[in-house]
Amino acid sequence: MAIQWFPGHMNVTKKAIIDRIKDTDVVIEMLDARLPGSSSNPLLSQLTGHRARLKILNKQDLADPNRTDAWLAWYNAQPSTRALALDAGEKAPAQRLIQACRALAPNRGGMDKPLRVLICGIPNVGKSTLMNTLVGRKAAKTGDEAGVTRIEQRINLADDFYLFDTPGMLWPKIIVEKGGYHLAASGAVGRNAYDDEEVALELIESLKRSYAHLLADRYRLDDVDAIPTRHDELLLEDIGRKRGAMMSGGRVNMAKAAEIIINDFRSAALGRITLETPEEFAAWLARAKVLEAERRALKAERDGPRKGKQTRKDW
Ligand code: GDP
Repeated sequence: MAIQWFPGHMNVTKKAIIDRIKDTDVVIEMLDARLPGSSSNPLLSQLTGHRARLKILNKQDLADPNRTDAWLAWYNAQPSTRALALDAGEKAPAQRLIQACRALAPNRGGMDKPLRVLICGIPNVGKSTLMNTLVGRKAAKTGDEAGVTRIEQRINLADDFYLFDTPGMLWPKIIVEKGGYHLAASGAVGRNAYDDEEVALELIESLKRSYAHLLADRYRLDDVDAIPTRHDELLLEDIGRKRGAMMSGGRVNMAKAAEIIINDFRSAALGRITLETPEEFAAWLARAKVLEAERRALKAERDGPRKGKQTRKDW
């Protein structure tokens, strides 16, 4: 996988979660509604154990409403789990959020047993925006680039309802390859960590199967029925040509074309899109786990028995 980053504050965030978790009743995981599976941190359940959880599918205004419904049903069918779709700038998300958390921890509430909620999510998922909306003023710094660090803050949403924030966190290794590309396309990964063209080609690969008509509309591509089976590189070239991303000699500037489609996806200029369905992501994850287990077994065989020191990949 060509996406590489140094997940800078990972250990700090991990420690903050571990320190806080024993006094937490509900864990909110903020997900990107356009890529719920890929934006879900596989380490979070390790860190938070069996705590009740609320999945927030944020940026629903950019996502495909039918697929958002499918993801909500998928999560709501899981034990001790509720899911809500939101856009973080929504005027009054607080009531829905508070109600969902209270339903998950009915034994908590009142001044002597306040409900303690921890909120987690990947960088750029919209956590600062939501926190700002909840407090009703500019408390947390928001930005377009991934990886803004903030210290833990507590918001009292009611006298008996405390919301603790954690810095945005990615994880050291993405085993679902497609997930890495989806994260990069969404803007969760800093720009230095990936190659635009590779990400654009994977984006096209995902879009051409389910959203061929949106590609055809936006870039005035001919023969919409042929799009799902066309080669990704040829589609990117066509997109570049249609949008005037040309170099001297009449060649398409593929880097520019890549930037165009990535930006159009991020801003929803292409339309409301969700890159993965629950079933698709479950299949990718199952396959990736098998490959990862094989890879580790081979490595263990090569390295021979080694004891003791925990390495980054162990968590
Ligand atoms: P954080 O890194 O999780 O704190 O993310 P931010 O709150 O800084 O948001 C990252 C970007 O996404 C900003 O440009 C926000 O304006 C934008 N954003 C956040 N939530 C939403 C949402 O629900 N819908 C849309 N369209 N944009 C959002």
